Amino acid sequence: MRKQIVAGNWKMNNDLSETETLLNDLKKQVIPENVSVLVAPTFTNLYAAFNSVIDHPIEVVAQNMHQAKNGAYTGEVSAQMLQSVGVKTVILGHSERRAYFHETNALLAEKVTAALENEMTAIFCFGEELEDRKSGNHFELVASQLKEGLFHIAEADWKQIVLAYEPVWAIGTGETASPEQAQEMHAFVRKTIAEAYSESVATNVSILYGGSVKPANASEIFGKPDVDGGLIGGAALNAESFMGIVNAFE
Ligand code: PGA
Repeated sequence: MRKQIVAGNWKMNNDLSETETLLNDLKKQVIPENVSVLVAPTFTNLYAAFNSVIDHPIEVVAQNMHQAKNGAYTGEVSAQMLQSVGVKTVILGHSERRAYFHETNALLAEKVTAALENEMTAIFCFGEELEDRKSGNHFELVASQLKEGLFHIAEADWKQIVLAYEPVWAIGTGETASPEQAQEMHAFVRKTIAEAYSESVATNVSILYGGSVKPANASEIFGKPDVDGGLIGGAALNAESFMGIVNAFE
């Protein structure tokens, strides 16, 4: 059985006190045993967040990291630094990182390697832009993001990978991919992995959907056979709506 996961990507929202308030609200909730619940606060609040949920099933994860061990990279944060504040999982390749910070597939391949070398789990994000979908290029685009960013890893390393399919046109726009569109792409991703690696890697990797997931649409999306949960932006900033999504699995 694949892991069911709901991850809240807080992006550049919530200062320290807002982080503590949201975590306190979340800690009052019962986390269902069949779902791994992750939250990704900004770097400055990771340590406080880790300590806040230390006796709680919520996992604190990072939104990004640098690929180098250490050194003269002003403003950057390494895997080892994340681990030193209790973080074991990192989101890599979010479309906002790709678009605004020019993260390429080649750079992401290095970041994935750095995460694996540090025994961290990487939540690897990918997804097409609207033009790709309109021109029917979305499968090819996604396949190249996977091949160039991820398929250099060894088969055994897939246990440290979670995938997040996030069509760029559905992020923060209120426009969700239909459950059928999500399922179609997730099935394609599994087939691509089975061809490059094995059926067992393809069957065991969790693939999350991201892009305007809300309590009202989550159960239909999570009900699709190849969708194993969600990466949630806007709706993760409020405990009630985030928990509405966490509780949306059948
Ligand atoms: P959204 O963001 O839920 O606000 O669309 C999703 C994401 O960017 O991970």
